[in-house]
Amino acid sequence: MKFRTLAIHAGHNPADHLGAIMPPIYQTSTFAFQGVNRPGPFDYSRSANPTRQALETCLAALEGGTAGFAFATGMAAETTVLMLFRAGGRIIVHSDLYGGTHRLLESVFRELGVAASYVDLRDLTALENALTDGAQAVWIESPTNPLMNLVDLQAVAALSHRYDALAICDNTFLSPYFQRPLEFGVDIVVHSTTKYINGHSDVVGGAVVVSSPELGEKIGFLQNAMGTCAGPQDCFLVLRGIKTLALRMEEHNRNALAVARWLEAHPKVAAVLHPGLESHPQHGLAVRQMRGCGGTFSFLLNGGQTAVFRMLESVRLFTLAESLGGVESLIEHPVTMTHASVPPDVLDTMGITPDLVRVSVGLEDADDLIMDLDGALGEA
Ligand SMILES: *Cc1c(COP(=O)(O)O)cnc(C)c1O
Repeated sequence: MKFRTLAIHAGHNPADHLGAIMPPIYQTSTFAFQGVNRPGPFDYSRSANPTRQALETCLAALEGGTAGFAFATGMAAETTVLMLFRAGGRIIVHSDLYGGTHRLLESVFRELGVAASYVDLRDLTALENALTDGAQAVWIESPTNPLMNLVDLQAVAALSHRYDALAICDNTFLSPYFQRPLEFGVDIVVHSTTKYINGHSDVVGGAVVVSSPELGEKIGFLQNAMGTCAGPQDCFLVLRGIKTLALRMEEHNRNALAVARWLEAHPKVAAVLHPGLESHPQHGLAVRQMRGCGGTFSFLLNGGQTAVFRMLESVRLFTLAESLGGVESLIEHPVTMTHASVPPDVLDTMGITPDLVRVSVGLEDADDLIMDLDGALGEA
Protein backbone atom coordinates (compact mmCIF):
# COMPACT_ATOMS: atom_id res chain seq x y z
CA MET A 1 0.00 0.00 0.00
CA LYS A 2 1.03 3.60 -0.57
CA PHE A 3 2.25 6.04 2.08
CA ARG A 4 -1.01 7.94 2.64
CA THR A 5 -2.96 4.74 3.09
CA LEU A 6 -0.40 3.28 5.51
CA ALA A 7 -0.36 6.55 7.50
CA ILE A 8 -4.07 6.15 8.16
CA HIS A 9 -4.42 2.37 8.53
CA ALA A 10 -1.12 0.68 9.45
CA GLY A 11 -1.05 -0.69 12.99
CA HIS A 12 -4.77 -0.54 13.71
CA ASN A 13 -7.56 -2.99 12.93
CA PRO A 14 -10.95 -1.86 14.33
CA ALA A 15 -12.10 -5.50 14.62
CA ASP A 16 -9.51 -6.03 17.39
CA HIS A 17 -10.91 -3.12 19.45
CA LEU A 18 -14.73 -3.48 19.60
CA GLY A 19 -14.93 -1.72 16.23
CA ALA A 20 -13.23 1.47 17.44
CA ILE A 21 -12.20 3.43 14.35
CA MET A 22 -9.42 5.21 16.25
CA PRO A 23 -6.88 3.21 18.28
CA PRO A 24 -8.01 3.39 21.93
CA ILE A 25 -5.67 4.79 24.59
CA TYR A 26 -4.83 1.77 26.77
CA GLN A 27 -4.12 3.83 29.88
CA THR A 28 -3.11 0.84 31.96
CA SER A 29 0.19 -0.18 33.55
CA THR A 30 -0.53 -3.90 33.67
CA PHE A 31 -2.69 -6.66 32.13
CA ALA A 32 -4.51 -9.65 33.64
CA PHE A 33 -2.98 -13.10 33.14
CA GLN A 34 -5.33 -15.76 31.78
CA GLY A 35 -4.01 -18.23 34.37
CA VAL A 36 -0.77 -19.31 36.06
CA ASN A 37 2.04 -19.11 33.52
CA ARG A 38 -0.48 -17.93 30.92
CA PRO A 39 -0.01 -14.23 30.16
CA GLY A 40 -2.28 -12.64 27.55
CA PRO A 41 -0.87 -10.86 24.49
CA PHE A 42 0.25 -8.06 26.84
CA ASP A 43 1.53 -8.32 30.41
CA TYR A 44 3.10 -5.00 31.49
CA SER A 45 3.10 -1.65 29.66
CA ARG A 46 6.87 -1.06 29.80
CA SER A 47 7.33 -4.25 27.75
CA ALA A 48 4.42 -3.57 25.39
CA ASN A 49 1.17 -1.63 25.31
CA PRO A 50 -1.51 -1.88 22.58
CA THR A 51 -1.58 1.87 21.83
CA ARG A 52 2.20 1.98 21.60
CA GLN A 53 2.20 -1.14 19.46
CA ALA A 54 -0.21 0.52 17.00
CA LEU A 55 2.18 3.49 16.67
CA GLU A 56 5.26 1.27 16.42
CA THR A 57 3.72 -0.84 13.66
CA CYS A 58 2.71 2.30 11.77
CA LEU A 59 6.21 3.84 12.09
CA ALA A 60 7.83 0.63 10.78
CA ALA A 61 5.44 0.60 7.80
CA LEU A 62 6.10 4.27 6.94
CA GLU A 63 9.91 3.91 7.06
CA GLY A 64 9.83 0.48 5.39
CA GLY A 65 11.58 -1.28 8.31
CA THR A 66 11.16 -4.63 10.04
CA ALA A 67 10.24 -3.11 13.42
CA GLY A 68 9.51 0.26 14.97
CA PHE A 69 9.87 1.51 18.54
CA ALA A 70 8.32 4.55 20.26
CA PHE A 71 10.20 6.43 22.96
CA ALA A 72 9.47 9.10 25.56
CA THR A 73 11.58 11.67 23.65
CA GLY A 74 13.90 11.86 20.67
CA MET A 75 16.83 11.84 23.11
CA ALA A 76 15.48 8.65 24.75
CA ALA A 77 15.44 7.06 21.29
CA GLU A 78 19.04 8.18 20.64
CA THR A 79 20.21 7.01 24.09
CA THR A 80 18.67 3.59 23.50
CA VAL A 81 20.41 3.24 20.12
CA LEU A 82 23.75 4.38 21.57
CA MET A 83 23.49 1.68 24.26
CA LEU A 84 24.20 -0.83 21.45
CA PHE A 85 27.86 0.22 21.83
CA ARG A 86 30.34 -0.72 24.56
CA ALA A 87 33.16 1.06 26.39
CA GLY A 88 36.20 1.24 24.12
CA GLY A 89 33.95 1.63 21.09
CA ARG A 90 33.97 4.51 18.67
CA ILE A 91 31.37 5.98 16.39
CA ILE A 92 31.83 8.43 13.54
CA VAL A 93 29.42 11.35 13.65
CA HIS A 94 28.60 13.93 11.03
CA SER A 95 30.39 17.11 12.12
CA ASP A 96 27.31 19.30 11.75
CA LEU A 97 24.49 17.97 13.90
CA TYR A 98 21.70 18.60 16.42
CA GLY A 99 23.06 20.26 19.58
CA GLY A 100 21.38 17.77 21.93
CA THR A 101 23.01 14.84 20.13
CA HIS A 102 26.39 16.54 20.50
CA ARG A 103 25.78 17.03 24.24
CA LEU A 104 24.65 13.39 24.69
CA LEU A 105 27.76 12.10 22.92
CA GLU A 106 30.22 14.42 24.69
CA SER A 107 28.78 14.72 28.22
CA VAL A 108 27.30 11.24 28.66
CA PHE A 109 28.65 8.63 26.25
CA ARG A 110 32.26 9.83 26.14
CA GLU A 111 32.31 9.45 29.96
CA LEU A 112 31.08 5.88 29.50
CA GLY A 113 33.93 5.12 27.09
CA VAL A 114 32.08 5.44 23.77
CA ALA A 115 34.03 8.04 21.80
CA ALA A 116 32.64 10.09 18.93
CA SER A 117 34.86 11.27 16.05
CA TYR A 118 33.44 14.15 14.05
CA VAL A 119 33.82 13.94 10.29
CA ASP A 120 32.28 15.98 7.48
CA LEU A 121 30.36 13.14 5.83
CA ARG A 122 30.10 15.09 2.58
CA ASP A 123 33.76 14.11 2.18
CA LEU A 124 33.83 10.35 1.49
CA THR A 125 37.64 10.21 1.58
CA ALA A 126 37.61 11.68 5.10
CA LEU A 127 34.97 9.11 6.07
CA GLU A 128 37.02 6.24 4.66
CA ASN A 129 40.12 7.43 6.54
CA ALA A 130 38.11 7.56 9.78
CA LEU A 131 36.62 4.11 9.14
CA THR A 132 40.10 2.64 8.62
CA ASP A 133 40.81 3.47 12.28
CA GLY A 134 37.85 1.27 13.29
CA ALA A 135 34.33 2.34 14.23
CA GLN A 136 31.13 0.53 15.15
CA ALA A 137 28.78 3.01 13.50
CA VAL A 138 28.38 6.14 11.40
CA TRP A 139 25.77 8.63 12.65
CA ILE A 140 24.21 10.71 9.88
CA GLU A 141 21.90 13.72 9.88
CA SER A 142 20.58 14.90 6.53
CA PRO A 143 19.66 17.68 6.12
CA THR A 144 21.74 18.93 9.02
CA ASN A 145 20.50 21.28 11.67
CA PRO A 146 20.77 24.22 11.23
CA LEU A 147 23.06 24.46 8.18
CA MET A 148 20.92 22.31 5.84
CA ASN A 149 23.87 20.39 4.45
CA LEU A 150 23.11 17.00 2.90
CA VAL A 151 24.81 13.64 3.25
CA ASP A 152 24.68 11.09 0.43
CA LEU A 153 22.88 8.31 2.33
CA GLN A 154 23.55 5.57 -0.23
CA ALA A 155 27.28 6.30 -0.50
CA VAL A 156 27.80 6.65 3.26
CA ALA A 157 25.80 3.49 4.09
CA ALA A 158 27.73 1.45 1.49
CA LEU A 159 31.10 2.70 2.76
CA SER A 160 30.10 2.06 6.40
CA HIS A 161 29.13 -1.53 5.57
CA ARG A 162 32.45 -2.13 3.80
CA TYR A 163 34.09 -1.50 7.21
CA ASP A 164 31.45 -3.45 9.20
CA ALA A 165 29.99 -0.29 10.72
CA LEU A 166 26.27 0.34 11.12
CA ALA A 167 24.76 3.34 9.33
CA ILE A 168 22.36 5.30 11.55
CA CYS A 169 20.33 8.26 10.29
CA ASP A 170 18.43 10.92 12.25
CA ASN A 171 15.53 11.54 9.84
CA THR A 172 13.70 14.12 12.00
CA PHE A 173 13.91 17.01 9.53
CA LEU A 174 12.16 15.27 6.63
CA SER A 175 10.01 12.49 8.14
CA PRO A 176 9.55 9.26 6.14
CA TYR A 177 7.23 11.13 3.79
CA PHE A 178 10.13 12.99 2.16
CA GLN A 179 13.06 10.63 2.84
CA ARG A 180 13.31 6.91 3.63
CA PRO A 181 16.92 6.20 4.66
CA LEU A 182 16.44 2.41 4.91
CA GLU A 183 15.86 2.34 1.13
CA PHE A 184 19.41 3.69 0.70
CA GLY A 185 20.97 0.96 2.87
CA VAL A 186 20.85 2.70 6.26
CA ASP A 187 20.40 0.22 9.15
CA ILE A 188 18.70 2.32 11.83
CA VAL A 189 16.49 5.41 11.52
CA VAL A 190 16.00 7.70 14.52
CA HIS A 191 13.34 10.39 14.92
CA SER A 192 12.26 13.07 17.27
CA THR A 193 8.52 12.56 16.72
CA THR A 194 8.14 15.87 18.61
CA LYS A 195 8.72 17.54 15.23
CA TYR A 196 6.99 16.73 11.91
CA ILE A 197 5.74 13.23 12.73
CA ASN A 198 3.46 14.46 15.51
CA GLY A 199 3.40 17.91 13.97
CA HIS A 200 1.20 19.79 16.44
CA SER A 201 3.72 20.90 19.10
CA ASP A 202 1.83 19.09 21.86
CA VAL A 203 4.01 16.00 22.49
CA VAL A 204 7.69 15.20 23.01
CA GLY A 205 8.47 11.76 21.61
CA GLY A 206 11.01 9.67 19.78
CA ALA A 207 11.15 6.72 17.40
CA VAL A 208 13.54 4.12 16.07
CA VAL A 209 12.95 1.95 12.99
CA VAL A 210 15.36 -0.84 12.06
CA SER A 211 16.16 -2.74 8.87
CA SER A 212 16.56 -6.27 10.29
CA PRO A 213 14.97 -8.62 12.86
CA GLU A 214 18.36 -8.90 14.65
CA LEU A 215 18.52 -5.14 15.25
CA GLY A 216 14.83 -5.23 16.22
CA GLU A 217 15.61 -7.82 18.92
CA LYS A 218 18.41 -5.67 20.33
CA ILE A 219 16.48 -2.37 20.34
CA GLY A 220 13.36 -4.07 21.76
CA PHE A 221 15.43 -5.58 24.56
CA LEU A 222 17.04 -2.22 25.40
CA GLN A 223 13.72 -0.35 25.27
CA ASN A 224 12.24 -2.74 27.83
CA ALA A 225 15.39 -3.07 29.98
CA MET A 226 16.01 0.70 30.12
CA GLY A 227 12.36 1.75 30.25
CA THR A 228 12.75 4.49 27.66
CA CYS A 229 9.37 3.83 26.00
CA ALA A 230 6.58 6.36 25.30
CA GLY A 231 3.32 6.37 27.30
CA PRO A 232 -0.03 5.45 25.68
CA GLN A 233 -1.50 8.98 25.68
CA ASP A 234 1.49 10.37 23.79
CA CYS A 235 1.41 7.42 21.37
CA PHE A 236 -2.24 8.16 20.62
CA LEU A 237 -1.45 11.82 19.86
CA VAL A 238 1.49 10.93 17.62
CA LEU A 239 -0.68 8.40 15.75
CA ARG A 240 -3.29 11.09 15.23
CA GLY A 241 -0.65 13.46 13.91
CA ILE A 242 0.65 10.82 11.48
CA LYS A 243 -2.75 10.57 9.77
CA THR A 244 -2.16 14.00 8.20
CA LEU A 245 1.64 13.72 7.85
CA ALA A 246 1.59 13.54 4.03
CA LEU A 247 -0.70 16.56 3.67
CA ARG A 248 1.19 18.60 6.23
CA MET A 249 4.59 17.84 4.69
CA GLU A 250 3.41 18.86 1.22
CA GLU A 251 2.15 22.17 2.58
CA HIS A 252 5.23 22.80 4.81
CA ASN A 253 7.34 22.21 1.71
CA ARG A 254 5.32 24.58 -0.46
CA ASN A 255 5.14 27.34 2.18
CA ALA A 256 8.83 27.12 3.10
CA LEU A 257 9.93 27.28 -0.53
CA ALA A 258 7.78 30.36 -1.09
CA VAL A 259 9.30 32.06 1.98
CA ALA A 260 12.85 30.94 1.03
CA ARG A 261 12.51 32.30 -2.53
CA TRP A 262 11.23 35.60 -1.17
CA LEU A 263 14.08 35.84 1.35
CA GLU A 264 16.65 35.03 -1.32
CA ALA A 265 15.64 38.21 -3.17
CA HIS A 266 15.72 40.46 -0.05
CA PRO A 267 18.66 42.93 0.14
CA LYS A 268 19.19 42.36 3.90
CA VAL A 269 19.54 38.59 3.44
CA ALA A 270 23.11 37.44 2.68
CA ALA A 271 22.24 33.80 1.87
CA VAL A 272 19.40 31.29 2.17
CA LEU A 273 20.31 27.70 3.09
CA HIS A 274 17.54 25.53 1.66
CA PRO A 275 18.24 22.32 -0.33
CA GLY A 276 15.15 22.89 -2.47
CA LEU A 277 16.66 26.07 -3.95
CA GLU A 278 18.68 25.75 -7.14
CA SER A 279 21.36 27.88 -5.38
CA HIS A 280 21.99 25.12 -2.79
CA PRO A 281 25.34 23.45 -3.60
CA GLN A 282 23.78 19.97 -3.10
CA HIS A 283 20.48 20.62 -4.86
CA GLY A 284 21.16 17.67 -7.21
CA LEU A 285 21.54 15.28 -4.26
CA ALA A 286 18.35 16.70 -2.74
CA VAL A 287 16.48 15.80 -5.92
CA ARG A 288 17.98 12.27 -5.90
CA GLN A 289 17.33 11.21 -2.30
CA MET A 290 14.52 13.47 -1.01
CA ARG A 291 10.98 13.82 -2.28
CA GLY A 292 10.67 17.28 -0.74
CA CYS A 293 12.21 19.53 1.89
CA GLY A 294 9.83 20.07 4.79
CA GLY A 295 9.43 23.48 6.42
CA THR A 296 12.75 24.11 8.16
CA PHE A 297 15.65 26.10 6.76
CA SER A 298 18.12 28.82 7.70
CA PHE A 299 19.36 32.13 6.37
CA LEU A 300 22.17 34.58 7.03
CA LEU A 301 21.48 38.23 7.68
CA ASN A 302 23.62 41.19 6.66
CA GLY A 303 24.50 43.19 9.77
CA GLY A 304 25.44 40.25 12.03
CA GLN A 305 23.98 39.43 15.42
CA THR A 306 22.68 42.97 16.08
CA ALA A 307 20.51 42.83 12.98
CA VAL A 308 19.39 39.29 13.87
CA PHE A 309 18.32 40.29 17.39
CA ARG A 310 16.39 43.30 16.06
CA MET A 311 14.62 41.09 13.57
CA LEU A 312 13.79 38.41 16.18
CA GLU A 313 12.33 41.11 18.47
CA SER A 314 10.16 42.45 15.63
CA VAL A 315 8.35 39.37 14.30
CA ARG A 316 4.65 39.18 15.22
CA LEU A 317 3.34 36.05 13.55
CA PHE A 318 6.50 33.91 13.79
CA THR A 319 7.10 32.95 17.43
CA LEU A 320 10.58 33.11 18.93
CA ALA A 321 10.95 29.51 20.16
CA GLU A 322 13.05 26.36 19.84
CA SER A 323 11.73 23.26 18.09
CA LEU A 324 10.26 22.85 14.62
CA GLY A 325 7.78 20.86 12.61
CA GLY A 326 4.53 22.15 14.10
CA VAL A 327 1.58 23.78 12.35
CA GLU A 328 2.69 27.20 13.63
CA SER A 329 5.72 29.08 12.35
CA LEU A 330 8.71 29.45 14.67
CA ILE A 331 11.93 31.43 14.38
CA GLU A 332 15.12 31.04 16.39
CA HIS A 333 18.78 31.99 16.78
CA PRO A 334 20.85 28.74 16.84
CA VAL A 335 23.94 30.27 18.54
CA THR A 336 22.03 31.43 21.65
CA MET A 337 19.15 28.92 21.59
CA THR A 338 19.15 25.38 20.07
CA HIS A 339 22.93 25.16 19.81
CA ALA A 340 23.86 27.05 23.00
CA SER A 341 25.12 23.79 24.55
CA VAL A 342 27.73 23.38 21.79
CA PRO A 343 31.09 25.01 22.75
CA PRO A 344 31.87 28.24 20.81
CA ASP A 345 34.97 26.81 19.10
CA VAL A 346 32.93 23.80 17.87
CA LEU A 347 30.21 26.16 16.58
CA ASP A 348 32.94 28.04 14.73
CA THR A 349 34.33 24.94 13.02
CA MET A 350 30.79 23.83 12.19
CA GLY A 351 30.14 27.22 10.59
CA ILE A 352 27.21 28.10 12.87
CA THR A 353 27.68 31.86 13.08
CA PRO A 354 25.84 34.63 15.02
CA ASP A 355 24.25 35.99 11.81
CA LEU A 356 22.37 32.70 11.24
CA VAL A 357 18.58 32.49 11.73
CA ARG A 358 16.53 29.28 11.53
CA VAL A 359 12.84 29.19 10.70
CA SER A 360 10.28 26.42 10.91
CA VAL A 361 7.64 27.46 8.42
CA GLY A 362 4.20 26.32 9.55
CA LEU A 363 0.90 25.95 7.74
CA GLU A 364 -0.31 29.56 7.88
CA ASP A 365 -0.88 31.47 4.64
CA ALA A 366 2.52 32.15 3.03
CA ASP A 367 1.50 35.75 2.21
CA ASP A 368 1.00 36.52 5.91
CA LEU A 369 4.32 34.90 6.82
CA ILE A 370 6.16 36.91 4.17
CA MET A 371 4.48 40.13 5.33
CA ASP A 372 5.63 39.40 8.89
CA LEU A 373 9.24 38.79 7.81
CA ASP A 374 9.13 41.88 5.61
CA GLY A 375 8.15 44.03 8.60
CA ALA A 376 10.78 42.43 10.87
CA LEU A 377 13.56 42.78 8.26
CA GLY A 378 12.60 46.43 7.97
CA GLU A 379 13.58 46.80 11.66
CA ALA A 380 16.81 44.80 11.29
C1 LIG B 1 14.54 17.78 18.44
C2 LIG B 1 15.55 16.89 17.83
C3 LIG B 1 16.08 15.80 18.54
C4 LIG B 1 15.73 15.52 19.99
O1 LIG B 1 14.41 15.17 20.17
P1 LIG B 1 13.55 15.48 21.51
O2 LIG B 1 12.22 14.95 21.16
O3 LIG B 1 13.59 16.95 21.74
O4 LIG B 1 14.20 14.73 22.64
C5 LIG B 1 16.99 14.98 17.87
N1 LIG B 1 17.37 15.22 16.60
C6 LIG B 1 16.89 16.27 15.91
C7 LIG B 1 17.35 16.49 14.51
C8 LIG B 1 15.97 17.14 16.49
O5 LIG B 1 15.51 18.18 15.79
